[in-house]
Amino acid sequence: MLRKIEHIGIAVKDLAASNQIFEDILGVAPYKEESVESENVITSFFQVGDSKIELLQATHPDSAIAKFLEKNKEGIHHIAFDVEDIHAEIERLKSLGYVMIHEQPKPGADDKIIAFMHPKSSNSVLVELCQDRFKK
Ligand code: ZN
Repeated sequence: MLRKIEHIGIAVKDLAASNQIFEDILGVAPYKEESVESENVITSFFQVGDSKIELLQATHPDSAIAKFLEKNKEGIHHIAFDVEDIHAEIERLKSLGYVMIHEQPKPGADDKIIAFMHPKSSNSVLVELCQDRFKK
């Protein structure tokens, strides 16, 4: 079951500059910055009620964020939904014919396990499923 929008991921070129922009907009500072080595990104997270904004800056030209910014301007990159059971959601979506980028969940930022759907399945919207790595 999808429970809420966990976060919206935004691709940026300059994390420090974008942190200031979103701090101005949201009135709060990011509560964490985290490097995700496997994805070649650094991220920052802002709490907005029950949801979050995740800013992502590439640290390597091979990063998905670097590739996104070759084709697109800075902006919304993905929408992440909080799920109770990521394995069950992956199987449910696959059984409906949707294509997953990750058929097995993998560690993500902010203490999550994550899996992305292929955007060709979902109106070109990159959808991330994420589940808390540690049960709350
Ligand atoms: Zn994300």
